[in-house]
Amino acid sequence: MSVALVSNSDCGRHDTGWGHPEHVGRLRAIPRALREEPDLYSRIVHVESRHATDDELAIVHDRAYIARVRAIVEQGGGRLDADTVASEGSWDAATAGAGAVLDAIDMAFGDGPPRSFCAVRPPGHHALRGAAMGFCLFGNAAIGAHYARRRHDAERVLIVDWDVHHGNGTQALVEAERDIHFVSMHQWPWYPGTGAAEDRGPHRNVWNVPMSANLPPETYVDALRSAIDAATAEFPPDLVMISAGFDSLRGDPLGAFTLEYEHIEQLTRHLVERAKHWCGGRVVSALEGGYDPDRLAVACVRHLRALE
Ligand SMILES: [Zn+2]
Repeated sequence: MSVALVSNSDCGRHDTGWGHPEHVGRLRAIPRALREEPDLYSRIVHVESRHATDDELAIVHDRAYIARVRAIVEQGGGRLDADTVASEGSWDAATAGAGAVLDAIDMAFGDGPPRSFCAVRPPGHHALRGAAMGFCLFGNAAIGAHYARRRHDAERVLIVDWDVHHGNGTQALVEAERDIHFVSMHQWPWYPGTGAAEDRGPHRNVWNVPMSANLPPETYVDALRSAIDAATAEFPPDLVMISAGFDSLRGDPLGAFTLEYEHIEQLTRHLVERAKHWCGGRVVSALEGGYDPDRLAVACVRHLRALE
């Protein structure tokens, strides 16, 4: 049992409405696709995650922002930014999403599977210290990276973000920590407009890889692998985290990258092989974007298989 699928039924209670691209159908498609692979389904460990605590959220977020999200949810929901909404289930969903990443990290550094995929929503990589943004409430990957350093023996953490959008929130929440290296490949120019190659962060621990739309898929794979090489030169990480956005697949309604399932597998296997060399194979991956539910679900299954 080398891989866990970490999720929480509360993630389905973040109700954005079916007209919103980040709807609950994205998550529901994943177990459906996984059941069509009964061998894989039976090999992986299924974990219902805990909820992150306020103190854990406050590793990266302002207390006032955490309180604001809770208050909006207690009022039955509302709008957090132009395209980010909360419903009465969103607090439980968002804290379960962050909690899933923390559980996966605890397992990786404890007696559990060294690798996990966290099937969670809302996503996290646009969330800022004091604001929701771009469908994201809390910075799941950034919280996890700092948590791994504080709670476990992780000195160095690598985060690889292959979502089609720049992980601006993750960058903002980790760039002050020189022992967290962040690699983000994203469409350029595109939402949210940040992530220029020259933007390396104050400690030069950020590798942004802005890429044109509609290039051959191998071009994206090669560019991301080169950036991973650069980010890990003389920096063998103790934990590899993946912000797994599947809106980088060909045909996604919110992106124009051209990756196919096989490229997700290639990138995953590459990181697993390198993690086995660096750190006993510890890889914690969490879902970010991906807005074609059927494609997203198949990609998650292929990603899980490649994590084995
Ligand atoms: Zn995205």
